[in-house]
Amino acid sequence: MKHTEAPASLILLFGATGDLAKRKLYPSIYNLYKKGLLSDRFAVVGVARRLKDDDDFRNWVKESIDTFGNSSEDLTEFISHFYYQSHDVTDSESYRELKNLVDCLDTTYHLDGNRIFYLAMSPEFFGTVAEHLKEDGLTDTKGFKRLVIEKPFGHDLPSAINLNKRIRSAFKENEVYRIDHYLGKEMVQNIEVIRFSNAIFEPLWNNRYISNIQITSSETLGVEERARYYDKNGALRDMLQNHMMQIVSLLAMEPPIKLTTDEIRSEKVRVLRALRPFKNEEIDQYFVRGQYGEGTINNETVPAYRNEPNVDPESNTETYVAGKFMIDNFRWAGVPFYIRTGKRMDKKSTKIVVQFKDIPMNLYYKNGSSLNPNLLVIHIQPEEGITLHLNVKKTGQGMETNPVKLNFSNKSIDGMNTPEAYEKLLFDCLRGDATNFTHWDEVALSWRFVDQISEVWANQKAPFPNYAAGTMGPKAADELLEKDGFFWWPVADLDVDENC
Ligand code: NAD
Repeated sequence: MKHTEAPASLILLFGATGDLAKRKLYPSIYNLYKKGLLSDRFAVVGVARRLKDDDDFRNWVKESIDTFGNSSEDLTEFISHFYYQSHDVTDSESYRELKNLVDCLDTTYHLDGNRIFYLAMSPEFFGTVAEHLKEDGLTDTKGFKRLVIEKPFGHDLPSAINLNKRIRSAFKENEVYRIDHYLGKEMVQNIEVIRFSNAIFEPLWNNRYISNIQITSSETLGVEERARYYDKNGALRDMLQNHMMQIVSLLAMEPPIKLTTDEIRSEKVRVLRALRPFKNEEIDQYFVRGQYGEGTINNETVPAYRNEPNVDPESNTETYVAGKFMIDNFRWAGVPFYIRTGKRMDKKSTKIVVQFKDIPMNLYYKNGSSLNPNLLVIHIQPEEGITLHLNVKKTGQGMETNPVKLNFSNKSIDGMNTPEAYEKLLFDCLRGDATNFTHWDEVALSWRFVDQISEVWANQKAPFPNYAAGTMGPKAADELLEKDGFFWWPVADLDVDENC
């Protein structure tokens, strides 16, 4: 389906001088503009604390696109649509000034009163900003009004409920776009297409043919400058509650009856409702936590987490989590979904491995060797593609088998770089498509699941550090699979071969 341009709209960007805006949002808006997907009738108002006038702000935006995007001669015309408002998010006077500017731009650019409020700032302000937008009249508009909200959405279920209540006092659920940028990634969006458009996978996608599913999201970076935030949250809240559980839902959901936002979201919610609950004393059987110690990455020694700046030297925060989800429904009973995610691991990679069951009898068993299981590997980042692992006959005499990989790489086939997740999500939001954003029900269910684990872990001191930087995590994470008769497929051996 070819996309037509988005409707006229004003984008109000709170946190306009922040890291996310600079690295992702301005280059994404610009890409939409260059592709003709943005209406000519658009304006952006940047809101932040640092004093800047419109010219300063336009230079800032230009610099960010020069650095992180692909600028061309139309950049000057593009940035002429940008305006700046120095703003204190807690002060009503600031919102009244903002409203005057917004009303004026609405008339100048014929924006039909359409407004997107994008909160790219510290989560502590999300509720305050949403309430002020209503109280000070900015949501009072004849066009659409949408709130885009960055993660994290709360730090546990009670705080998420509280935040949701505040937001919902100003916006309806279908006006709230909770960003999980993984849902904007090309290969995450491809999960549904691979499953629901291929006759060779759809009939096999269940506990009769799949033995287990593994999702790895590993980073080589440490906490960098996020230590203050990260040390209070850890991998469980920062990665598992949102990105990893979203991927599990997409892999496990039933086919929706239609590709509408409501149908897809309700199928994802049903997966989260089917997650097997466990008792507090059983958590260790399902989840493993880790924290990195000193180690070597790219031949350089890197410090232990506890020695990073702004980290508590006694920190009990996990920088790694591995887990086993069991989905208790007809399709998935008995099939473990293993996930692992962490910092300072030996390779940056996000991949899904779907391991199929062994065939009933191996005719080609020879010299103690056994057949490799068929694997479907979905490469999410940095490579994007699919690999199917099959067994074929070894060329020559005899009937020995050889494992082969059939590769599809987005880069080599499409010959283009896929759009950045934020570009796709911004475009969806402008068009009013909330499918790839998280519904409140998903947020609530995933927090409920995660809260139980974090409460148990908060009350027990962990034997940290328990993995060296530059490795794939603690030994206990390997044992999690070994006791079920499986092992983690080494991500380095699974890479997509872009020359194929
Ligand atoms: P940042 O600290 O770099 O930027 C914060 C912005 O908020 C700045 O523009 C600052 O001027 C503004 N601000 C702070 N206090 C203010 C106040 N009282 N009044 C008005 N403006 C104020 O933060 P960031 O890294 O850009 O992150 C923003 C949000 O995006 C956070 O919720 C973060 O979790 C989320 N996020 C960021 C990234 C990323 O790559 N940086 C990725 C995913 C999610």
